[in-house]
Amino acid sequence: MTESTAETMKFEAEVGRLLRLMAHSVYSDKEIFLRELISNASDACDRLRYAGLSQPDLLEEGADFAIQVRIDKDNRQLIISDNGIGMNRDDLIKYLGAIAKSGAADFLATLEAGGGTDAHIIGQFGIGFYSTFMVADMVEARTRKAGETDAWLWRSDGEGAYTVEPAEKPGRGTDIILSLKEDEVEFLETFRLQSIIKSYSDHIPIPVHLSDTAEDVGEQANAGRALWTAQRSEATEDQHKEFYAHVGGMGDGPWRTLHWKAEGTLEYAGLLYVPSTRPFNLFDPERKSRVKLYVRRVFITDEAEELLPGYLRFLVGVIDSEDLPLNVSREMLQRNAVLRQIRNGVISRVLKDLTTAAEKDADGYAVFWENFGAVLKEGVYEDSENRDDLLKLCRFKTTAGESSVSLDDYIGRMKDGQSQIYYLTGEAGQDLRSSPQLEGFKARGVEVLLLDDPVDDFWPNMVGLYEDKMFASVTQGGAELDEIPLEDAPEEDAPPPGDIAPLIAQFKLALGEAVKDVRISKRLTESPVCLVADAGDMDLNLARMMQRHGEPAMQAPRILELNAGHTLIRALSSGMTDVESAENVDAYAHVMLDQARIAAGEAPLDPALYSKRIAELLAKGL
Ligand code: ADP
Repeated sequence: MTESTAETMKFEAEVGRLLRLMAHSVYSDKEIFLRELISNASDACDRLRYAGLSQPDLLEEGADFAIQVRIDKDNRQLIISDNGIGMNRDDLIKYLGAIAKSGAADFLATLEAGGGTDAHIIGQFGIGFYSTFMVADMVEARTRKAGETDAWLWRSDGEGAYTVEPAEKPGRGTDIILSLKEDEVEFLETFRLQSIIKSYSDHIPIPVHLSDTAEDVGEQANAGRALWTAQRSEATEDQHKEFYAHVGGMGDGPWRTLHWKAEGTLEYAGLLYVPSTRPFNLFDPERKSRVKLYVRRVFITDEAEELLPGYLRFLVGVIDSEDLPLNVSREMLQRNAVLRQIRNGVISRVLKDLTTAAEKDADGYAVFWENFGAVLKEGVYEDSENRDDLLKLCRFKTTAGESSVSLDDYIGRMKDGQSQIYYLTGEAGQDLRSSPQLEGFKARGVEVLLLDDPVDDFWPNMVGLYEDKMFASVTQGGAELDEIPLEDAPEEDAPPPGDIAPLIAQFKLALGEAVKDVRISKRLTESPVCLVADAGDMDLNLARMMQRHGEPAMQAPRILELNAGHTLIRALSSGMTDVESAENVDAYAHVMLDQARIAAGEAPLDPALYSKRIAELLAKGL
């Protein structure tokens, strides 16, 4: 091969930045580069084993998969080889040249947000290969794809460009050749490498051999046995941590480990982890599962959508079935009865474990809920079969204080006369506690759930009941507060609310179609006005959200409620007989409607007109 056949290509800008960062990194966990390479090598073997099921020709060089780590002190090189699926020219450009490395941008964004000085987090971004530039100033991949005759050499010094050229390679698979930086020679020491392999790659299901000569494969440096096949009592916390990093690409260690074997009509092994921190792409619209499906120790896919519902997408790990056929295709998986049963078994196992954890480790559960509650709650909406269990697992912010509350806690604290579970929905970050609609509830000591996740707009309506108690929005329908006494009796000398019927009639006339109705409020004690949705209509926040998403027709006119006890309303009402004030009522009606909108986080209907009216009313008051 001559030099001229090498094509030079540039990395995309983000990858370039990422590599410079790697090269000059101050990471203390540089050794994780080896875990990433061994992880890739093991995946490559898994993928070929799977492809060989339908195309046995691909395995003509044999089906004994192995990974070799070789030390070459003379050339200051470390070589990691596998006999897995390999890459052709297009693969190299696509996977290592980074045409679509969205992970690079995400990783940089996480770093910029102060999210990581810890190299362990690299795995989850799909950029593990680049971690080699922490320790090497030249990285080469010599590779031949199974079933193809041409081999290729990819090389880069991490300075913004890489080359791809034809190469020689007798066997299938990939050699990654790292030319180590001068001060990284510790990674040429057998003892050091043994310990890294042991602690990060002991339980990948492929043997890893370590040697310091080309003549001999050397000793096996890992256990090389799939951890999920071990007895539960045999597997240690460290082993789980290591395997979790391999399957999930996360270095945080799992919060919960679920390791079990289902036996009976259906046989499968499950090894699932609940992470202790939130993966960066949890809220991607694809809602991808992170659990790998194996059949009798053979990796099948990490994209079996049917294996787990979207609301459990925070789990990482492996399900290994004894019953599915090895040649199961992706299409078959979509309507496979065995897979459906496994799915149901896994869901109930996970929900049971979370229920136990919530009881036994309330603090840990609170952190879990902070990380994944919004995702788990999607199940309340989607999974009617498990709804009751899911509702029990939910935690809510409420008006009663800062700590999160379960529905059972809420029901236990309901007031005499209270028959409904009250809630208020809004957007994350919105100050729900100061909503005027809450005033009447506060005055009666009635706790209200404060819901601000996107899914919260949908589930309460659909669920309807929990333990015979209706969910009721405080911004919708009539607030049934008559049955519940006020905590503090009204002051003796406060005049009873007057008859504001004429004022209401006047407001209705002035506002016309802008409102559905005007009525006396039971839910206001301090503010003069608020908006609510009629009982059968869409709740306030949901309607606002639909409108933002281009569905203005969904916004039905709302009801304006007046606080008959408020000084302003009283004054307006009693001034109705006075001719000049009556003329003002029209302006007041519009201003009050806009005020109710503002209190609900909306803009006045016509901001210019609103401010003109305010100015006029203020001037009159002087
Ligand atoms: P990830 O493994 O998380 O996808 P990497 O940056 O480590 O991210 O690797 C990128 C891609 O390069 C892999 O998804 C895989 O397609 C390919 N790749 C890396 N190493 C190998 C290998 N040894 N054999 C075959 N393909 C590989």
